[in-house]
Amino acid sequence: MEDYLVRAIAKKAGVRGIVCVTTNLVNNVAHRHKTSPTATAVLGRALTGGALMGALLKIQHRVALKLEGTGPIQKVIVEADSYGKVRGYVGVPDVDVPLKNGRHDITSAIGRAGLLTVVKDVGLPKLTESVTPLASGETDTDLNAYFNQSEQIPTVVAIGHKLDKEGKAAVSGGILVQAIPPYDENIIHQMASRILELPPVEDLLQSKKTPEEIMALLFEGMAYDLLEKRPIQFHCSCSRERSEQALISLGKEEIAALLENEGQAVIDCHFCHERYVFDKFDLELILEEL
Ligand SMILES: [Zn+2]
Repeated sequence: MEDYLVRAIAKKAGVRGIVCVTTNLVNNVAHRHKTSPTATAVLGRALTGGALMGALLKIQHRVALKLEGTGPIQKVIVEADSYGKVRGYVGVPDVDVPLKNGRHDITSAIGRAGLLTVVKDVGLPKLTESVTPLASGETDTDLNAYFNQSEQIPTVVAIGHKLDKEGKAAVSGGILVQAIPPYDENIIHQMASRILELPPVEDLLQSKKTPEEIMALLFEGMAYDLLEKRPIQFHCSCSRERSEQALISLGKEEIAALLENEGQAVIDCHFCHERYVFDKFDLELILEEL
């Protein structure tokens, strides 16, 4: 199945829903960062969270999630936009933590004490930033805490994943339901119980249910409109030009030192591991222009 999300709204009931499948995205990013199975689970869930958050944004807006804790993986960072483009990485990609009750122990990998930082670029001169304590590091419960405490919009997020024997994502995806103004909390309690009654999202995806079919189960008995189907894909906004700007911002002396000591400068993108090499000639040209 291709990665995509569907958005729906049940106006009368006062709730919107997003369902996504992100298996290819997770495997793409995990492959780039050579993550261990535990790190794939942590990163995968955060990528799905990012895709769901991105789907709530208006066009050209962006969101970044950072889950940071005291555990060995240290942190996971994900960025997403309103067009379904997502990228991300973890602090320590080769961390492996023993399974707990047959599941990847994400809470121990991230750490019990930690923070979720949500940064939004909504086209204003200043970014908006909000910090909430981590609930579990599993992204969905953390986003639930963020929405209910920080944005104060009744919301339920459920993220699921299953890895295969090689540690790759077999399925990955998520559900987000959110009250629409005037924000009736009861509908979200009702939707939360419905999500609990249904098989977990990873089981639904594994039994080949499409996001549209999962949405139909979620909104069963309610009138709703399917608004949009949008592909989700890995995309990194890095470029040689941006890397050159980063190099220039180091200043003349630092560049001269790089030229002298290394004979070149290599910028490795955190998000996608694309390497931008500036050789002797490039560095001399940059220095001349400075
Ligand atoms: Zn990149």
